[in-house]
Amino acid sequence: MKHSVIAIILIAFSWLQGPVVQAQTVGAGGARLPTLGDGGEMSSAAERRLGDRIAREIYRDPDYLDDPVLVDYVQGIWQPLLAAARARGDLSSELQANFAWEIMLGRDRSVNAFALPGGYFGVHLGLLAVVGSPDELASVLGHELSHVTQRHISRLMARQGQQAPWLMGALILGALAASKSADAANALILGGQAASAQGQLNFSRDMEREADRIGYGIMTEAGFDARGFVGMFDKLQQASRLNDSGAYPYLRSHPLTTERIGDMQSRQSMAGPVMPGAAPSLAHAMMAGRARALSNPGVDALRGLLSEADSMGLSLSSTVTTRQAGALYAGVLAAVRLRDFGAAALHLDRLTALVSSDPAGGQLTHWLRVELNLAAGDWRSAQALLETRSAGEPGAGQMRRPELLLRGQVALQAGQEAAWPALTERLQLWVADHPRDAQVWQLLAGVYAAQRQTLRALRAEAESRVAQLDLAAALDRLKAAQDLLRQGPSGTASADHIEASIIDTRRRQLESALREQALER
Ligand SMILES: [Zn+2]
Repeated sequence: MKHSVIAIILIAFSWLQGPVVQAQTVGAGGARLPTLGDGGEMSSAAERRLGDRIAREIYRDPDYLDDPVLVDYVQGIWQPLLAAARARGDLSSELQANFAWEIMLGRDRSVNAFALPGGYFGVHLGLLAVVGSPDELASVLGHELSHVTQRHISRLMARQGQQAPWLMGALILGALAASKSADAANALILGGQAASAQGQLNFSRDMEREADRIGYGIMTEAGFDARGFVGMFDKLQQASRLNDSGAYPYLRSHPLTTERIGDMQSRQSMAGPVMPGAAPSLAHAMMAGRARALSNPGVDALRGLLSEADSMGLSLSSTVTTRQAGALYAGVLAAVRLRDFGAAALHLDRLTALVSSDPAGGQLTHWLRVELNLAAGDWRSAQALLETRSAGEPGAGQMRRPELLLRGQVALQAGQEAAWPALTERLQLWVADHPRDAQVWQLLAGVYAAQRQTLRALRAEAESRVAQLDLAAALDRLKAAQDLLRQGPSGTASADHIEASIIDTRRRQLESALREQALER
C-alpha cells in the first residue's frame, strides 16, 4: 500500500493546498447531532463507501494482520463496548446497520489506534504491547468508537468539500502511511505535505473532549475499570513529556490539551487512585507479549525476546507474575519463529505452570502449544491436544475462532480424509454466520481443494476476496470456475448443478457491484 499510494498522495496534497479546499457542507442527511451539532456531515452511506475504499487498500497491505488469537482477545473488549454504546443510545440503529464496526490490526510497532470512515478502526500492535490492562485498551477503543458515533469523522470528511472519493481515500491512506514510525523514507518524501494533510484530518479540541467524555461513559458502562482510562492518560502524558511522538503517533492525531488533562483530573477524583499494577491480568500480559513477538519480525528482536524469557526468574508476587507471563509468552513465540522448538517448549512449560490457576491464561497456553506443535510439524500432538481439550468442554459446539482455525490447519497438515466432512460442516456454519471472515473462507477453500471439490474451492476463494472487498479478484475466481464447468464433467469431479447456479448468480452480483464502483469515481 505505502509505495503504490505515494504518487496519488502527492497529487492529492497539491490539490488540497489549492483553493479547492474550502470548508463546504455535504447534505447533513437529517441525522441528529447530540452535542456538537455544527452543520455539515457526510451521509452514513457515502461515509461507508469511502471507508470500504480505504479498507480495501489496508487489507492488501502486508502489515495488515488477522491473527486469530489477538483478534479474539480484542473482540472480547470491543463487543461489550459496542453493546454499551447501543444501550446508552450513543450508537443509532442507522449507524449500527450502515457501518462495518470492524477493527483491523496492523503489525506496526508504533503506539497508534485510529478511527476511519464507515466504522473501520485500526489498532497497531505497538499499542497492544504498551497498554497495561484490558481496561486501558477499552479506554482507547471507547474514545475511537465515540469519534465515529458522534459523527466527528463524517464532519471532517464533509469539510473536505466536494473532493472525489478516491482523492479523500488517498489522502487518508497517505496520512496513515506517513504516521508509521519505521517508515522514514515515506516521511522524507512527504515531509511538510503530510503534516499539512494530517492537519486537515485532525479532530478539533472540542471533538477530542467529547470523545473522552462519551468514551469514558461507554467503557465504564461496559464494566471496565475507570482507572484504566486514567492509567492510559498517564501513559500518554508521560510519552508526550518525553516528546516521543515518533513512537506515539497516537499523540499527533489526538493531542493532549490542557482542557483534556483538566477533564481527566476531575474524572480521576471520581475513579479513585491508580494503583501501580492495578487489576493485573495474566491474559492481557500474554496478549501484549504476543503483540511484541508478532510486531518484531527481525531476528535480533526475536533473540532479544527469547533472552528476556531466559532471564525470567520465578516469583509469587502478582505483578511480577504478570510480567513473567508476558515475557515467557513472547519468548515462546519468538523461539517458534526462530525455529528453536526446544527453547519454545521449555518456556511454554514454565508459562503453563505459572498460569495454571487462571482459566483465560490456560486457554491461551493451550492454543500456543497447538501452534508450537504445528510449527514443528508434529500434527499428531497438535491433534491430540485439540481433542483432549474439547472433549471435556460442555459447549464444544460453539467453537471459538482460534480453535476453529487451528483445527483446520491441523486437518490440512494431517491430510486425514475421515476428518473432512465434520470440519467442512463447521466451516460452512461459521461463514454462514460470519460471511465477511476472509480467513475462514480461505481455509474452507483449502479444505474443498483437498477433497478435489474444485468448483467449491474456487467459489470459497472468491468469497474470501469479496470479504476483503477485492471484487475484481473475486470475479476472476468465479470466471475460472465457469471455465471449468464448460470443460464438462472431466474438469469437475461431479457436475454440481446447485454450485453452478450459485456461481452464476454471484458473478452477476459482482459484475453489477463493479459497475457501480466504476461510476463512483
Ligand atoms: Zn481522539
